[in-house]
Amino acid sequence: MISTQQVEEVYRRLAKAMPGRTKDAKGPKGQPDPFRSCISCMLSAQSLDSNTAKASKALFALARTPQQMLALSDEEVAAAIKPCGLYNNKARNIRKFCTALLADHDGVVPRTREGLLGLPGIGRKCADIVMSFVFDEDVIAVDTHVHRVCNRIGLTDAKTAEKTAEQLEDRTPEWALRDGHFWLIQFGKRICLSRSPKCGECPVSDLCEFYAETT
Ligand code: SF4
Repeated sequence: MISTQQVEEVYRRLAKAMPGRTKDAKGPKGQPDPFRSCISCMLSAQSLDSNTAKASKALFALARTPQQMLALSDEEVAAAIKPCGLYNNKARNIRKFCTALLADHDGVVPRTREGLLGLPGIGRKCADIVMSFVFDEDVIAVDTHVHRVCNRIGLTDAKTAEKTAEQLEDRTPEWALRDGHFWLIQFGKRICLSRSPKCGECPVSDLCEFYAETT
């Protein structure tokens, strides 16, 4: 892994090169709804963003609260969310999630990572996305882009996104926690692409372990 000083330098350069939180996080309608954000995040597992959006739209046209969701049958939920794949499993998880949310939290999504992780269907990525995007906490949520970029550069050396999230939390300077997710995700989508990273345009190539090993 790269040194602590190099980690700081990577964040400094990405902060200059990439857009931060304000531009990407807030839509014209303000803060997202916590319940629907959890459901959308559950639907996003192994699904393209466009398919997740279609499934969310169809499902929220039928139900927008835990109570309304539980009034639907699993078959109705599965039919609505078909575009995002794994729909039978996801429909069952949504039922378990809504049941636990009502039983343990009176239907109110908890505002802590521990509380979120205690709900069926919510893993570290979903919990951190909700903490960051919905509750405006300084948390770096690790999706596939962030996981890939961090391990290529050497910010982390983890095999799973969950482990990357743990290492990143320890290694990220406090000033970068707020916008770190947005810099890393934009960097992964624009420059450090999955198949053909644009190393020639990269602002951190001199610090990148992958670049040093492959050139
Ligand atoms: Fe990604 Fe290439 Fe930049 Fe390394 S040098 S971070 S692999 S784009």
